[in-house]
Amino acid sequence: KLYNQVQDLKGNIRVYCRVRPFLPGQSNLSTVGHIDDGSITILTPPKYGKEGHKSFTFNKVFGPFATQEEVFSDTQPLIRSVLDGYNVCIFAYGQTGAGKTYTMSGPKVLTEQSFGVNYRALNDLFHISKERKDTFCYEISVQMIEIYNEQVRDLLASDGPHKRYPSIVSYIRNSSQTGFAVPDANSVPVTSTTEVIELMDIGQKNRAVSATSMNDRSSRSHSCLTIHVQGRELASGVFVRGSMHLVDLAGSERVNKSEVKGDRLKEAQHINKSLAALGDVISALAQKSSHIPYRNSKLTQLLQDSLGGQAKTLMFVHISPEADAISETLSTLKFAERVA
Ligand code: ADP
Ligand code: MG
Repeated sequence: KLYNQVQDLKGNIRVYCRVRPFLPGQSNLSTVGHIDDGSITILTPPKYGKEGHKSFTFNKVFGPFATQEEVFSDTQPLIRSVLDGYNVCIFAYGQTGAGKTYTMSGPKVLTEQSFGVNYRALNDLFHISKERKDTFCYEISVQMIEIYNEQVRDLLASDGPHKRYPSIVSYIRNSSQTGFAVPDANSVPVTSTTEVIELMDIGQKNRAVSATSMNDRSSRSHSCLTIHVQGRELASGVFVRGSMHLVDLAGSERVNKSEVKGDRLKEAQHINKSLAALGDVISALAQKSSHIPYRNSKLTQLLQDSLGGQAKTLMFVHISPEADAISETLSTLKFAERVA
């Protein structure tokens, strides 16, 4: 019975699109036309063709008024499957400012209603594991890393909160044995959502501290919160192991090569390369291709055991409704359509 809900998800890859609302002070000329359950129409200026609109189809489209609770409710079956021993990846994709962090974590000031997917997912994990306490004994632990310029950094480095430079842990291995793709990164056992929120705060601070000259480092790196779950079935003594990766990707906007140089260009090239590699992997999986190109980026190496096979993938693609975001909006939706 537990598996039914999971099996209801057709295939193992789902793509949801979310449109953020206008922010205070923005002019309300939206490029978003019609939205229904699974499709979205974008109104396009003449340079994109005579029709004046383009439509895209996804597993689900959330309009600007969708609440955090509504967005999460479609994600919930995945959480249960982690406790059943599946690996799950949830990604937030989109240009900077389109709402990735809002979906995954929530706004800067959090309330019960505004909690993002991360908090809700963990809440559910703890809740369901308690429900099962007569049949299973679960251990849950958390890692938090970021990938910046193809280097993996441990955001929960043990030598203290707010360590100046989160340590670089470049070692990624095939993790089918332990379920740990980055064995060097600190893994912290947790028993409640409150503990995890504290850890996320530390990780967030470590991330911010390493922002040297960059104005917004967080949009130039991928951050990944990984939850490892190990359950022992009390009657049989059999272990199940599952994991969940919650990934807030670097901004997908393309930078103009004539405008940026040096570090900024290098960053942009790393981001482009790794997002393209992620797109290639997911679309190869969606097409059931025999070769899946995992090796082309740190991100896809890291997630290799959680992408494909029995693993379940959910990609939230985010778009902004503003007219001047139109070209990024279209390229985001094209990327998403390719992986859907
Ligand atoms: P990103 O992480 O993609 O750069 P953010 O999540 O930081 O974007 O969102 C940019 C701004 O828009 C933030 O101020 C955020 O609180 C706000 N925002 C994003 N999505 C929503 C939403 N669905 N509802 C209300 N405000 C949102
Ligand atoms: Mg963000």
